[in-house]
Amino acid sequence: MKKDLKSFTRKEIILEMASLEWPPYRANQIFQWIQKGCSDFAEMTNLSKIMRETLSKNYILTSLWQVSKQTSQDGTEKYLLELPDGELIETVLMRYKHGNSLCLSSQVGCAMGCQFCASGMEGLSRNLSAGEMLDQILFVSRDIKERISHVVMMGSGEPLQNLEEVVKLLNIINDKQGLNISLRHVTVSTCGLVPQIYELAEYKLPINLAISLHAASDNIRKSMMPIAERYSIDELLEACDAYVDKTNRRITYEYALVPGINDYPDEINKLAQKLKGKLCHVNLIPVNPVDDVFPAHHHHKGYHHIVEFLEKEGISATIRRELGADIDAACGQLKRRSKADL
Ligand code: SAH
Repeated sequence: MKKDLKSFTRKEIILEMASLEWPPYRANQIFQWIQKGCSDFAEMTNLSKIMRETLSKNYILTSLWQVSKQTSQDGTEKYLLELPDGELIETVLMRYKHGNSLCLSSQVGCAMGCQFCASGMEGLSRNLSAGEMLDQILFVSRDIKERISHVVMMGSGEPLQNLEEVVKLLNIINDKQGLNISLRHVTVSTCGLVPQIYELAEYKLPINLAISLHAASDNIRKSMMPIAERYSIDELLEACDAYVDKTNRRITYEYALVPGINDYPDEINKLAQKLKGKLCHVNLIPVNPVDDVFPAHHHHKGYHHIVEFLEKEGISATIRRELGADIDAACGQLKRRSKADL
């Protein structure tokens, strides 16, 4: 099978081209073309014709195709994209004053099975390659003719289950000869895979790590997220403390408020006790309805008392503004649909 150069870091392209006895500046040129969105070696016009033919013969450049695009009233765009093997993924563009933020998918489907999330309803199909994640950014950027400045790994999939490719992607998008996206503008969100949190800490990347905590008691967390059967909240928080020690980066704890399940004072109080004194931020998300599993959520204002309470306990907290809810593009609403449904 031909190798996909879109999944290569610049260093890897330099090594690969060295095997053809091409100098590093040639590899840099190839990398720069790819990062500009070029998906055809024939268009790399500063390489000789023979070089371009050699590349086409030995390598590919993975490209995604748009199946459809929906635009929300708030300007959020949800893209349904097709992968080379026909699998479908969704990616969501959110426009903020501070720039364009893209919510990437890291897997086709998801194996984690969180009760309130649409992405896992059909299980996991496969991991995405670094090139397939990168092309979500290149595709959308080309479509809107604007730069993507922020990346959140909160589309479908569990990024830490695909850690190697995700780290490769971060390396590629951070490259100054490419997209030059600051890692401080990248958020990786996990449902809490404890061993992989320790592993990620070793890379010491200045990214933002978000942990989908969603409960302060193990029994409640277990009722929401199967991963809680595997790791207790205390084990998870211990891994997060180790992560903060290693990276010196503040962790964000995501807390999807589900009426009557995890939003009552006892549980919120417990949350405050667990997080007190930690370098952290709590992001409250009024749960989004998925397939009518949950009643329509409270108006955001209904949860301000929780923010106030956490702040009083010395814990920084905000309520996440939801974008794209009207096109099912808000948190947890992304769902791969089969082609037959389209
Ligand atoms: N697998 C990763 C990233 C994907 S989901 C993770 O679990 O963190 C991104 C965030 O959206 C997670 O915090 C997830 O728990 C949350 N989420 C999922 N479904 C939701 C829903 N219906 N309403 C609100 N948030 C949801």
